[in-house]
Amino acid sequence: MTQYDVIILGAGAAGLMSAIEAGKRGRSVLVIDHAKKIGEKIRISGGGRCNFTNIHTHANKFISKNPNFVKSALSQYTADDFVDLVKKHKIAFHEKKLGQLFCDDSAQQIIDMLLLECEKAKVTILKDTKITNVGMQEKQYFVEYNLKKYFCHSLIVATGGLSIPKIGASKFGYDLAEQFGMNIIEPLPALVPLTFTEKLLNMCKELSGLSVEAAVSFKKTLFEEGMLFTHRGLSGPSILQISSYWILGEKIKINLAPKANIFSLLQNAKANYPTQDIQSSVSEILPKRLAQMICKEQGVSGHICELSNKVLQQLSDSINAWTVNPTGSEGYRTAEVTLGGVDTNEISSKTMMSLKYPGLFFIGEVMDVTGHLGGYNFQWAWSSGYVAGQYA
Ligand SMILES: Cc1cc2nc3c(=O)[nH]c(=O)nc-3n(C[C@H](O)[C@H](O)[C@H](O)COP(=O)(O)OP(=O)(O)OC[C@H]3O[C@@H](n4cnc5c(N)ncnc54)[C@H](O)[C@@H]3O)c2cc1C
Repeated sequence: MTQYDVIILGAGAAGLMSAIEAGKRGRSVLVIDHAKKIGEKIRISGGGRCNFTNIHTHANKFISKNPNFVKSALSQYTADDFVDLVKKHKIAFHEKKLGQLFCDDSAQQIIDMLLLECEKAKVTILKDTKITNVGMQEKQYFVEYNLKKYFCHSLIVATGGLSIPKIGASKFGYDLAEQFGMNIIEPLPALVPLTFTEKLLNMCKELSGLSVEAAVSFKKTLFEEGMLFTHRGLSGPSILQISSYWILGEKIKINLAPKANIFSLLQNAKANYPTQDIQSSVSEILPKRLAQMICKEQGVSGHICELSNKVLQQLSDSINAWTVNPTGSEGYRTAEVTLGGVDTNEISSKTMMSLKYPGLFFIGEVMDVTGHLGGYNFQWAWSSGYVAGQYA
């Protein structure tokens, strides 16, 4: 068969969802992926348990040059809709925190569910297939592989972003959009650990494995979640979240004890326990290793009564308002998502179809839509995939 109603490029979360929906409408659907295994990113997601959606899904959890773009798709297919599908397949799940829904067992259940739905909708899936050309001919789109052309009325591009190249990420979708003269918002790694100069890196190495609840901010954006010291720099949810907003060359602010006013606690300690060692005072608020490290870095030691308020203020600032200057990020090797992508100003928010090229759709991460950490990126894949599946 060389003629299909719909050809979908990329069998990830968004591609499979659009295939199911188009197939359910009776369209003949072919999905093509170059990876040897289908759904690898789903399999490794959420630590192997797939944080498949978030019950607090809202447009304000997404970053895009066009912030209203996501609204229509998110309302056409909501987090509840995906939860209903998960329940229909009797997949047990739980809310971990902050509205994040995870499988109790394994992310593989989500892949199996999607593949079963594809089978029911009579979708053909080709894996390990190299696409050599895509174009238009006689008012149809064509996709070439194995030296043969396959034609369709609707072409859905669902090839994702650049994160984790070793499991199949490629810039294919961006190149294809450019081939059709579409604009690309510069892609950048996001939801990614940040790296630092040698001095701070050494401190991170010494504290490697230690985590604290921290409020991490860049300009007016703030996330209060876990932060992790690693042997490569800083990571953990609050750092991953801020990495999507941080701009190279600028500083971020970290409050290592957001629930405590350190200066006032230290003043109290000075008044009530004047002979207490400063490291012990700080260790009552922060993990001991971190407290010792900060006191050492600030050159502060001895009884608390021997320290001036100015010194206590400086020490407090290094805890409540620690300013750090990241040198970069770990890049696409570990980034969970890619910022930027196909400019949404060129796509209908109602259908996901190109405004210039009828029948050409873009869905999922390949577009300039990036969710916060917590299940929002998959919800975008489901919602945009669902919508394209209704119109393709
Ligand atoms: C480690 C990790 C953990 C994550 N955990 C979560 C989580 O728990 N919750 C959450 O919401 N999000 C999570 N994400 C993000 C989420 O996985 C993505 O946002 C989502 O998978 C995007 O779906 P997509 O279908 O647009 O792209 P993808 O899932 O990346 O699918 C794109 C598909 O296109 C194929 N492809 C690429 N190039 C070509 C080509 N040239 N030819 C043919 N096929 C091609 C790829 O092989 C792939 O199968 C995580 C990401 C990573 C990396």
